[in-house]
Amino acid sequence: MYYPFSWWKILGRLAVYFVLAIVVGVYLDNLAVCIAVAVTLLLLQHYWHLFRLNRWLWHSKKMTPPKTAGIWEHVYEGIYYLQRRNRNKRKELGALVKRFREGAEALPDAAVVVDANACIAWCNRLARIELGLRWPEDAGRRVDNLIRHPQFIEFFHQGNFDYPIEVTSPTNIDKILEYRVMPYGEKHLLLVARDVTRVTQLEEMRKDFVANVSHELRTPLTVLNGYLEMFNADPQAYPPAFMQKAFGEMTSQTRRMQSLIEQLLILSRIEASAERVYEKIVDVPQVLAAIQSEAAALNQDKGHEIEFTVDPQLRVFGIETELRSAFSNLIFNAIHYTPAKGKIQVGWRLRNKAAEFYVQDNGEGIAEKHLARLTERFYRVDKARSRKTGGSGLGLAIVKHVLTHHNSRLEIDSEVGKGSCFSFHFSTELTVVNSHASHQS
Ligand code: ADP
Repeated sequence: MYYPFSWWKILGRLAVYFVLAIVVGVYLDNLAVCIAVAVTLLLLQHYWHLFRLNRWLWHSKKMTPPKTAGIWEHVYEGIYYLQRRNRNKRKELGALVKRFREGAEALPDAAVVVDANACIAWCNRLARIELGLRWPEDAGRRVDNLIRHPQFIEFFHQGNFDYPIEVTSPTNIDKILEYRVMPYGEKHLLLVARDVTRVTQLEEMRKDFVANVSHELRTPLTVLNGYLEMFNADPQAYPPAFMQKAFGEMTSQTRRMQSLIEQLLILSRIEASAERVYEKIVDVPQVLAAIQSEAAALNQDKGHEIEFTVDPQLRVFGIETELRSAFSNLIFNAIHYTPAKGKIQVGWRLRNKAAEFYVQDNGEGIAEKHLARLTERFYRVDKARSRKTGGSGLGLAIVKHVLTHHNSRLEIDSEVGKGSCFSFHFSTELTVVNSHASHQS
């Protein structure tokens, strides 16, 4: 326990000690020897305490100081008090650092603390994953020696951190990271890297989309414009056969534009749709019957053998207009992309308690490399042929969106020269068999 230190008390005790030594010296008639012995004993006592202090400070595991009295008790208590104060401060500091690190670990971004010499002082777990840093091996190493992208190095060295930069990830070339640097404290820097791959892709897709729509609309408009200019210059100069051909061409180009705009509207309606898929039951057999007669009309030129195998009891929860669009796109594609007199099988059946739809054709099939991109907007395997069939390149993009809305996924199984099978299934929760038909709205 702390008590006030008093020099008077210490000096008083010393005085009493020496008076006693003098009294004993006078009594024994050997004052000098007695005083020398008293001084030696005093010295030995202090050395003993120094020895104990040293042992306590360096060798003892005990926090509490050894028991003693007098000035040495005061010294021990003083050191003990300082130690306790330091320990509490260290604890507080440790808790603060722990909280900071936990916070930085919880960040959804990679974070690296860099000191005044550009050396790594600390990094979080995401920095190890996204930037490929190793911890603690990379502690103290220069960050620009570890993240070697030239654009990053230039950004880091020029020192203007007002704007972030976007660079490919050092661990995955398909990923784009946005680096931000924030100076703080004494010339320290906080480097934060965020995965912006999706945002970049969306931006690219938006640009591509606008470019594609403009391109798709420009081609038919150029054809129409060309004819109109010709007729405008000299309306009488063309024979009836030419006029018929020209009008036929203009009509087909106008239809193409109309269908493109319709498809675009369907696509944006589906994207913006807030309709819930599990509120209404769709009578799929009825929808397919309607599409079957449309398909028969479309099939007149090609004369395919089209076979519909439909389970009449099988229905699903969903959005009728969207599903109609998905079914018809797949069926009409099979008609368009199968050479004349082909065989097309359309199926609607129950499989493992889930409703499944498929369209199988024996057309030319699709090469493996196209499959992953087939549902992208405006993606076509063969642009020229697809245009000839009146295709806008949006059909499968619509199917994909409809299926995503219905928690499903398009599966494409295709072999060049043999044919293709486009299929998807609904979850068991959305599948309705027979007895639930009365719920139909
Ligand atoms: P489009 O409107 O041009 O038909 P889609 O998005 O419907 O566009 O289809 C994309 C491409 O996929 C088509 O251009 C075509 O090359 C290919 N494709 C679609 N269905 C089939 C099929 N049944 N057989 C072969 N190729 C197909």
